[in-house]
Amino acid sequence: MTESYLEELKKLVGVAGSEAVAHYPSSEAMIHHWCDAIGDANPIYTDVGAARRFGFDGVVAPPTMLQAWTMPGLKPGEPKPGGAMVEIFEKAGFTGVVATNCEQEYPRYIGAGERISSSQSLESVSDLKTTGLGEGHFVTQVWTYRSGDEVVGTMRFRMLFFRPRASEPRAPSKARRPRPAMTRDSEFFWQGVEQGKLLIQKCADCGELRHPPGPMCPQCQSLEWDAVEAAGGGTIYSFVRHHHPHIPPFEVGHPIVLVELDEGVRIVADLIGASNNIAIGQRVQVEFTKVDDDLTLPQFRILKA
Ligand SMILES: [Zn+2]
Repeated sequence: MTESYLEELKKLVGVAGSEAVAHYPSSEAMIHHWCDAIGDANPIYTDVGAARRFGFDGVVAPPTMLQAWTMPGLKPGEPKPGGAMVEIFEKAGFTGVVATNCEQEYPRYIGAGERISSSQSLESVSDLKTTGLGEGHFVTQVWTYRSGDEVVGTMRFRMLFFRPRASEPRAPSKARRPRPAMTRDSEFFWQGVEQGKLLIQKCADCGELRHPPGPMCPQCQSLEWDAVEAAGGGTIYSFVRHHHPHIPPFEVGHPIVLVELDEGVRIVADLIGASNNIAIGQRVQVEFTKVDDDLTLPQFRILKA
């Protein structure tokens, strides 16, 4: 059974949309700003002399600026671009949208002082597909850009309109903690943790402490090192709460801290027993938690002021 919204959408395929004319002609100033922002140093975009040596009358715009000339600004309260198609999708419950791919063609460069117009039509609507985001339809729009009557660019823009899946209530997870990456450099650290010690790598030549462990002293390039035991006290240098995506067995919103140890090096770890009042600069102390039969982790707890 074909659903009625899909019939409505298919009626829009091939119908030419209205033409949008750029508010301003293309300009050297806009081209220059774009090149600065993108970091494109090609001189034909900003240097008239260079552009002329390459056969242009003046500077030209990077072809990828195509959309910039006619794109309307996003202002609150203005109708959404995409008009009728978006409305049909939204009514049918396809409230999610992601762009999936974009192909552009540039028959020629656009110079400064051209008034660009664009028109758009719907090229295709796919049947209902099941995707990781939910059920949805892929749609392809074709955009044609003109300077006067001359086509100066085309764009195929593909999007997925989908019905967001309701999030399922999560049962407590029995997933195991991921194992820490164990390398020849970090082996001593984890052996220390097994024994309840926080070991910090120390350069045997210049004495510089370093963490995470690595083969070479960044200070003096020595490959000789040993380790010292840290006292385990420090302050929260930075922190995040991890919400999305949910990764069992971690609880949603679980706090991860970057602790500056009193010895001077910084270490990333879980914060345990934390309320909502985590703050940079709080004093913390390491604890060694036996997470399961073969994993112990250093974790930090906030000390009461
Ligand atoms: Zn050193």
